[in-house]
Amino acid sequence: MCLTHVRQTSDRLLQPLWDYLLFHHRPLISSPFFPVFVAFSCYFLFSIPFAVLDLLGERVPWIHQYKIQPDRKPTVEMMIRSFRTALYNHIFFVLPSVLLSVFILPAPVMPKDAPAVSEVFIDGLAVLLLFDTQYYIWHFVHHKHQQLYRWIHAVHHEYNAPFSWSTEQLSIPELMTVGFWSNQDPLLLNVHPLTTWCVMVFSIWMSVEDHIGYDLPWTLNHLVPFGLLGGAPAHDMHHQKPSSNYAPFFSHWDRIFGTEEHANSRHSQYLNL
Ligand SMILES: [Zn+2]
Ligand SMILES: [Zn+2]
Repeated sequence: MCLTHVRQTSDRLLQPLWDYLLFHHRPLISSPFFPVFVAFSCYFLFSIPFAVLDLLGERVPWIHQYKIQPDRKPTVEMMIRSFRTALYNHIFFVLPSVLLSVFILPAPVMPKDAPAVSEVFIDGLAVLLLFDTQYYIWHFVHHKHQQLYRWIHAVHHEYNAPFSWSTEQLSIPELMTVGFWSNQDPLLLNVHPLTTWCVMVFSIWMSVEDHIGYDLPWTLNHLVPFGLLGGAPAHDMHHQKPSSNYAPFFSHWDRIFGTEEHANSRHSQYLNL
């Protein structure tokens, strides 16, 4: 009896947060525009510090020493161009699609119970693994098919030295495909909305981290053991050698299919803890 109570309490650590969101912000969190707002805000907020570091460059030597391609510096014009593409795509394509979905899709159901913390981690990992697999296949195909590459994926490869804002420099079909998976995968796996939002924020962080252009010692690819995550060194290499490192987050598919290319960062050897 007592043990059951303890387990229930520990399993629902997120209940107060979930109750707060349901009672005080239900219209906001139920809105189909909420995930778009969160996703775009995260892209914006996560990109800013790295844009500042790029602009400061060698004036911050303790960070600049980790730059993967130190001789390639993004200009303000490049940053504005990337951000403008992302903003334009969201205003003219993502928001109208969401508006259309209001009339087609049923309203999201908000469960009364919060997810258990373990559920957030396990379900979140499942969503990330599914997305990673889908994008690996899509990405591989769009690099192997000349017309698909030219018309759909080439926009993202305008720069072979990525920088934070270039994370969402995507063509409209690519952005819509990625957005579709981000929306549908959690529904397919029957994931709690709170887990969905956590995964969304986390995956945007990982996507920005892929593009920062710095092999920082405290980024996720160094914190997660056995090189399970590719991170900035792997994705930077993809922008330099586009026939390698197709997976967005994890490294297993590139290892299995022999498309893995190791980073050439000056620091990657001793930073690979
Ligand atoms: Zn990229
Ligand atoms: Zn690519």
